[in-house]
Amino acid sequence: MIGVYTNSPDAARLTHAGLWALQHRGQESSGIASLSGNIIRVYKNQGLVASVYDEEHLSLLAGHSAIGHNRYATSGGKGIEHAQPIFHNEDLVALAHNGNLPSTQKIEKLLHKLKIDIFGLNDSEMMQKAINYYLHDKLSLEKALKIVLPYFTGVYSLVLLTREGLFAIRDPHGIRPLSLGKVNGTYIISSETCALDTLGAEFIRDIKPGELIRINAEGINSTQLLPGKEHLDVFEFIYFARSDSILLGKRVDEVRKNLGKQLAQEVKVKLDVVIPVPDSGISATLGFSAQTQTPFDHGLIKNRYINRTFIQPAQKLREDQVKLKLIPIPEVLKGKKVGVVDDSIVRGTTAKSLVALLRKAGAKEVHLLITSPPVRYPDFYGIDTPKQKDLIAFNHNPKEIAKLVNANSVQFLSLTGLKKALGKLANHCCMSCLTGEYPVSIRERKNEVCSISI
Ligand code: AMP
Repeated sequence: MIGVYTNSPDAARLTHAGLWALQHRGQESSGIASLSGNIIRVYKNQGLVASVYDEEHLSLLAGHSAIGHNRYATSGGKGIEHAQPIFHNEDLVALAHNGNLPSTQKIEKLLHKLKIDIFGLNDSEMMQKAINYYLHDKLSLEKALKIVLPYFTGVYSLVLLTREGLFAIRDPHGIRPLSLGKVNGTYIISSETCALDTLGAEFIRDIKPGELIRINAEGINSTQLLPGKEHLDVFEFIYFARSDSILLGKRVDEVRKNLGKQLAQEVKVKLDVVIPVPDSGISATLGFSAQTQTPFDHGLIKNRYINRTFIQPAQKLREDQVKLKLIPIPEVLKGKKVGVVDDSIVRGTTAKSLVALLRKAGAKEVHLLITSPPVRYPDFYGIDTPKQKDLIAFNHNPKEIAKLVNANSVQFLSLTGLKKALGKLANHCCMSCLTGEYPVSIRERKNEVCSISI
């Protein structure tokens, strides 16, 4: 998700470049809305950034401010009808959302009261409808937000475009990241700092939890709309963010190296070689290798032009795609005790395919080194995890998981180890998938979560 405010009419082009850098955050659809004079235009389609836009679209989107979004569905399905930014003719606001409202009961009631039809709408669309209603009532965006935010019961980092300018807001818990940058007179708001680097912008600071930023011809303005406290989703560090991004003031690459180093201190097995699952496992493998003096090698090569496996809906498809995506190097693996570093095990599908691949290529032993503690609780905050019963670590301990995926062992980073590796940052992270403690109320969805004692 990205927003650009600039002096030239090139905001959409800069947004487009930023969306390339944020492709890892969502691959289902992509869209840009721009503001020219008083007119908001939007273009969006299914697919990757590379295939969605051509020169004509970008020319038609000429304007001084723009917002862009790559969609990763957590509710409302993957179809074009849910692509973002959300904007329809006559609307007064275009909105892009990163996050998820676990419960929409409260906002549904509000929309019902306002006589707005909610049939088929997802959480993001409901938020846009509510804001739009109050803008039509001649309120400023800030005033409209003051009314509707209590109904946004969940997680949201938003960028918004209205005739008043470009806006950004983060929910009071700051679960999803959002950063502010600047290059010459151009302001950029981005889910991750990697897009700021792509645009040659300097990172200024993170948007604070509960803070609203407005950027227009008068400059930049900040209002603390709600009291906030940072609980950044720890999975941004573990898996989601790009390793060149900076979160909570720390380079993700450095944190991942620390995760690998910490895991190395907890693992007792002696290994001949340690290999990453590319790309997110690379930094952690370097850390593991440095800590244990185990040689690092590339035992798996990634075909970069295949989408993330996790996002495929069908289980069967996903299994096949791991093999399509990762190619083992037998010379690195033959006859060796191999440690393979991955960031997480969710359903166990990837792990099973990986072990089979590595064994087929000649590995004598395969030890899975996982740089997160077991994921035992579902996510409600904008990461697409399955129901709790389908999380392999919900039902099974590491020994059982090793058996199920045919590995010699599975070594998860401990929760204490994770906190150690994060240092002071641990106090500012949300670890709900690991602990079952949800800082943002999941309301009626509590029914979907069992506490466990593995
Ligand atoms: P699974 O195959 O269901 O066990 O999923 C674990 C794999 O998915 C690991 O290789 C992770 O790198 C990857 N993964 C973890 N979290 C996510 C996520 N939120 N979105 C996409 N992939 C993920």
